[in-house]
Amino acid sequence: MKRVYLDNGATTRTHPEVLKAMEPYFLEEYGNPSSVHSFGREALEAVENSREKVRELINARDSQEIIFTSGGTEADNLAIIGGAMANRKKGNHIITSAIEHHAVLHTCQYLEEEMGYSVTYLPVDRFGQVQIDDFKKALRKDTVLATIMAANNEIGTLQPIKELAALARENGTLFHTDAVQVVGHMPLDVQEWGVDMLSLSGHKFHGPKGVGALYLRKGLKIHPHMHGGAQEKKRRASTHNTTGIVGLGKACELARRNIPEKQKALVSLREKLIKGIEEKIDEVILNGHPKERLPGNVNFCFKYIEGESLLLSLDMQGIAASSGSACTSGSLDPSHVLLALGLSHEVAHGSLRLTLSEFNTEEDIDHVLEVLPGIVEKLREMSPLYKKD
Ligand code: PLP
Repeated sequence: MKRVYLDNGATTRTHPEVLKAMEPYFLEEYGNPSSVHSFGREALEAVENSREKVRELINARDSQEIIFTSGGTEADNLAIIGGAMANRKKGNHIITSAIEHHAVLHTCQYLEEEMGYSVTYLPVDRFGQVQIDDFKKALRKDTVLATIMAANNEIGTLQPIKELAALARENGTLFHTDAVQVVGHMPLDVQEWGVDMLSLSGHKFHGPKGVGALYLRKGLKIHPHMHGGAQEKKRRASTHNTTGIVGLGKACELARRNIPEKQKALVSLREKLIKGIEEKIDEVILNGHPKERLPGNVNFCFKYIEGESLLLSLDMQGIAASSGSACTSGSLDPSHVLLALGLSHEVAHGSLRLTLSEFNTEEDIDHVLEVLPGIVEKLREMSPLYKKD
């Protein structure tokens, strides 16, 4: 059976060159980067090389602005808790959006419920975009931090980060963006965006799982949330994950090669898939912004059916997709992102996310377009809500 992987928003295939780059740091150069001997020095050199590769990909000014973490979740936690705590004298108000990943939302809720902060959760329009005016109005004298994701993991909508970051800066508010879904897939420049902090994660762009980074603009202070060693200039204790960091660096190096061409190819596959679904299946709603969206993201609601049954049927045909985000699957509640767009619970339940990577082909898309209409028809026939004219 042909197998098609269309769940790249959840995680991606590790690039073979990434794996190859990591191997020597398991088997030969396995020293602790904090050790003084040659094994340690070799490992430290590899860590610093990777830091430089991450810097290059996001165009940070200095590689010391990169803090390695265990992934996107930790980078988000470090930015939000660490940023808010270290700058508490400015105030205790935080701004975020209603459609953030739970790594951001739950962290803000923690600060709200346990640490005495107050949080504004900005609504989004029907395409999933935060309105600049709403952001402007929400900024207060005591707004210590704003955190708005660069692109949504479920619906792919991109946010006007440059404009939002400029407003935050005028207000003396730290600005963080969760760019986990953007880094490695679209050109990105932290200096041009003017952000203070940015989170990224290796496994979303063909690097290994369990490693990520936080960009922290030079001169800014955050409170560390891991206490122990002096690694990462005392900003994140614990022995370096050398192999993961080397893999992340390689993934950044690979991502920088031909980003515009790869992006164009993905957009073309994405548009083929969107057009095909809209032509072949009726009563569907494209979720997210029609143009301002991630190159590899397709998200539809299929009326009268459950996303979960759609997923299972696709899986039986060898197609891996997702409904809502991987992190919330297993829950019966519809996605908070789809509800924030104004969709009803009923419609939101019928969502399907198909996320592409550079390893996908035209044949993959053809296969989905061949199989999906039949599955939707069958499921609708079983649905008591569906009345065919
Ligand atoms: N932020 C976004 C937007 C994501 O999509 C994800 C992963 O699903 C994360 C954060 C968490 O990243 P990680 O899995 O590296 O902890």
